[in-house]
Amino acid sequence: MAAKSLPPDRILVIEDEPEIAEMLKLNLEAEGFQAETAGDGGAGLAIQESRPADLIVLDLMLPRVGGMEVLHILRRRRDPVPVLILTARTGDADLLQGLAQGADDYLGKPFSTLELIARIRAILRRTRNQESQPRILRSGPFRINFLQLDVHRGRTNLNLTLREFRLLEVLLSNPGRVNSRQELLNMAWDPDGKPMPKTVDVHIGTLRKKLGDTDKSPFIQTLDREGYRWMLPVTPEAG
Ligand code: CA
Repeated sequence: MAAKSLPPDRILVIEDEPEIAEMLKLNLEAEGFQAETAGDGGAGLAIQESRPADLIVLDLMLPRVGGMEVLHILRRRRDPVPVLILTARTGDADLLQGLAQGADDYLGKPFSTLELIARIRAILRRTRNQESQPRILRSGPFRINFLQLDVHRGRTNLNLTLREFRLLEVLLSNPGRVNSRQELLNMAWDPDGKPMPKTVDVHIGTLRKKLGDTDKSPFIQTLDREGYRWMLPVTPEAG
């Protein structure tokens, strides 16, 4: 007996320009996907709630509920659906914020449909591989959840800002290694914002305070000229 084939992946396209939405739907269907379109953020969120898609293609510039707001609401709902952002402008603050808020990839408009479909396949492959991998890290007394973008110490949610979370993420990705202020700026900030390196010190300061860090045995060690380093071992949490 032939193996039963998997049902096609469902893609939800949230895009207010009908020609683009329709063109995407046709092309996705031609590639074997099941595709559905929504003309604004509210409609997209409603569809995702009743018939969850395997991936969402999300335009940022949408009437009423904008793309960023849609992404924000999805993540607040704890919906882990991968999101690929479409944007007319690349490198803008919204886009980087989108990536920081849990979008998986982006394409600048105008885009090639072939490119979009290749990206969609890559994201679906990646998320499928990740499903068995931990999305939670443990380090010292901390539990860092990358799905929910929060950090707990014991049962206490440390309520990090997105910026503090991004900073911590960069530090944790290189435990024991010194990260220069410039590196931290490059990885945790919008490159258009051009903050001063001093800004890093300010945010590290608030982060250390929330972590309950002390100078005696610091979690984040400050090396005056060089930068900062995370001092504890980091391990993935299984399950
Ligand atoms: Ca639009």
